[in-house]
Amino acid sequence: MSQELSADLHPVVHQVWDALDGLTDPEIPVVTLREMGIIRDVERVADDAVVVVITPTYSGCPAMEQINDDVRSTVKALGLQVEVRTQLAPAWTTDWMSEEAKAKLKAYGIAPPNRQCGAPSQQVSVVHFMRKPAQAEQAVECPHCGSHHTVESSHFGSTACKALYKCLDCQEPFDYFKPY
Ligand SMILES: [Zn+2]
Repeated sequence: MSQELSADLHPVVHQVWDALDGLTDPEIPVVTLREMGIIRDVERVADDAVVVVITPTYSGCPAMEQINDDVRSTVKALGLQVEVRTQLAPAWTTDWMSEEAKAKLKAYGIAPPNRQCGAPSQQVSVVHFMRKPAQAEQAVECPHCGSHHTVESSHFGSTACKALYKCLDCQEPFDYFKPY
């Protein structure tokens, strides 16, 4: 994983990563920003200053402002100066979510994104904005009972990045985090 910490990182960078590990996604409080793949990098630019690179889950995500503020205040609390840099390319993809994040989503009652079949992970950002044809979508597993007998009731759920689904076996509605 690209976010794996290597032993030769500066202690300050380690300290910042550790502190940022406590930040959760404003829309899904069970997963951390790091597990979501939103925090991309921490760079030490001076003795007491770092740059934190973040990539929004999608362009115009309303939670980004809060994420910015959270990152800023968390790093400042360590006594460091911080610049939060938003990096838009390569675009965020649900492939950046850790397996742990997907498991937590499911436990929270949100179906995690199905892996994009055959899609290379280093796609040009433009591709991510295209709607995929419905038939390319694999069956979505119900996070409550594990059934694949599910239907989409609305393409937009509680937030734009989720779709509302219904399980035809246990009859429970649930959010599906759309892969892109
Ligand atoms: Zn079900």
